[in-house]
Amino acid sequence: MVALAGVVVGYAIAWAVPRCLLTNSKRQRAERARLEALANATFEGLVLVRNTLVAEANMRFLDMVGLSREDLINTPLCKLGLDDKSASTLRTMQSGEQKTCQLRMRSGDDITVQVQAREMDYEGEPSLILAFRDVSSEERTRARIMHMAHHDALTGLPNRARFRESLEHELERAWVTHDEVALMFFDLDRFKEVNDVHGHAAGDALLVAVAERILDSLPEGAIASRLSGDEFAVILPRVDSRLEATTIAERVVDNVAKPATIGAVHLNVSASGGVTMFPLDGEDPDRLMNQADQALYRAKHQGRNCVAEFDPQMGRQMQEKRMLESDLAMAIEDELLDLHFQPQAHLGSGDIVGFEALVRWHDDERGFVPPSQFIQLAEETGQILRLGQWVIERACREAVNWTDGQRVSINVSPAQFKQGNLVLSVERALRSAGLDPSRLEIEITEGVLIDDEARALTILRRLKDLGVGLAIDDFGTGFASLNYLRSFPFDKIKIDRSFISGIQNQPEARIIVHSTIDLAHQLGMGVVVEGVEDMDELIALGDLNEVNVQGYLLARPLTRGAIKDFLASPPDLRAEILAGASAVRRA
Ligand code: C2E
Ligand code: CA
Ligand code: CA
Repeated sequence: MVALAGVVVGYAIAWAVPRCLLTNSKRQRAERARLEALANATFEGLVLVRNTLVAEANMRFLDMVGLSREDLINTPLCKLGLDDKSASTLRTMQSGEQKTCQLRMRSGDDITVQVQAREMDYEGEPSLILAFRDVSSEERTRARIMHMAHHDALTGLPNRARFRESLEHELERAWVTHDEVALMFFDLDRFKEVNDVHGHAAGDALLVAVAERILDSLPEGAIASRLSGDEFAVILPRVDSRLEATTIAERVVDNVAKPATIGAVHLNVSASGGVTMFPLDGEDPDRLMNQADQALYRAKHQGRNCVAEFDPQMGRQMQEKRMLESDLAMAIEDELLDLHFQPQAHLGSGDIVGFEALVRWHDDERGFVPPSQFIQLAEETGQILRLGQWVIERACREAVNWTDGQRVSINVSPAQFKQGNLVLSVERALRSAGLDPSRLEIEITEGVLIDDEARALTILRRLKDLGVGLAIDDFGTGFASLNYLRSFPFDKIKIDRSFISGIQNQPEARIIVHSTIDLAHQLGMGVVVEGVEDMDELIALGDLNEVNVQGYLLARPLTRGAIKDFLASPPDLRAEILAGASAVRRA
């Protein structure tokens, strides 16, 4: 571009050779005409300036400024449709201090021109040749690219990068003006379901509608952005109080929750919001964003479709939880989890009839993390689907190695029933491991049945059709256990550990356990008594027939390697524990 402008200025110099030198002869007149034609043929506007007045200009320049040659000659250049700033820039160039610049000119439309200057002698006087190039379309393209880099193509809202800049800018301003600034994050509840059920086009249309609703709910001066997916952020640059900010956030959430019609589909969406305040909660943009995110997370936790304020108390806890969450994701991804297997023995014979697969996570920094700390988290974040899938596959692969046909039991979470395709996962795992379906047992808690009974029942029936066993876990700890026994096709009841712990001192617990076992047997179901820790408990259980036991008395959950040894251990040792206990009881 600069090279081209150089050539142009070169032509211009030739063209501006003083007329007196050229008008002498026919040949010289022809030469001048040729140079004029050349000057007019360039895309650049060329102007010769002398004593700050226009002395000569080519056709292109006349077009640019929309003037005739007569009107232009002897006009001060800086009067030609220039704003004050451009005029002053041009004056600097005329003084020879600056060789190139970019200006805005008004000639019908506003145009952006790039100007190059070169000094020369004209008829013995110092003059200036200026070449003007219209770069408006390049400018527009550049502006479009800039816009695209800073805005979200779908909703037209500023994107995360732009949002960050605005936040920094507003905070810097607020430092000076002593304003309070609110930062709010919003996130649609269950947006993934909309995408999954109605398709991405509907999801996109919904996001556009949500963006509009957010904008409609905000006061003037608020800055709304789309951070990613279904995540939106709003800055309120001047806000009187936390209460005002929260009220505005609640208005956003209320408006988003109004039913939306996308094409022929009626959608009921809702959003959750988190609010944090500068400078009360924090002063640094990163910190504030993190806090707004934490508040949002809390709103989700409080049942969604609501707004939560950042609470400094929750910071640490939440941070730990987030770290645990990301470490768990990595552990699942890198297969750093392990399965241990806790044996179940038939009371009386002492035969090992099965193992319950229990997931184990040994984190490099945290050490052993018990499932009670991460299963719930995995359910909240949806990670349970991948985790569960891994458990199913791994358990089936392990069980084929057990030579006496013992069963393997796996725990399945409510989320695996609600999302994902549990039946297909189970079917595939069985097939790929080559495990007989009758050797797999699925343990579920009442939580699975509560939310969507009909769906759960369908899935349970299909699992049963595969030939897989079904056990109800933690029996006795829920509310409606008896009712579920009637309506669901369970094969087995696992009596919760809480009834066994200290049973020797609790005659009522003993009665409940015995009645439950009777009930199960009458309904044709098997029984596992969980959490038998010591001989006293086993003895206190009394005389039990056709019952399996599981607990530390028999063995703690074992690594895969330890199973072999355990199964090879003298059977009479186990039988002694179990059958011996019966003998003691009978005596
Ligand atoms: P759960 O299904 O009730 O599993 C039995 C729990 O009791 C296991 O704890 C086991 O180690 C423990 N236990 C067994 N015998 C005794 C005993 O004699 N005394 C005592 N005090 N405890 C005993 P764990 O492995 O910590 O698992 C806790 C819970 O985490 C499980 O309870 C289950 O709900 C869940 N969980 C474990 N693995 C998985 C999994 O792969 N998937 C899912 N969805 N949940 C799992
Ligand atoms: Ca269990
Ligand atoms: Ca249990």
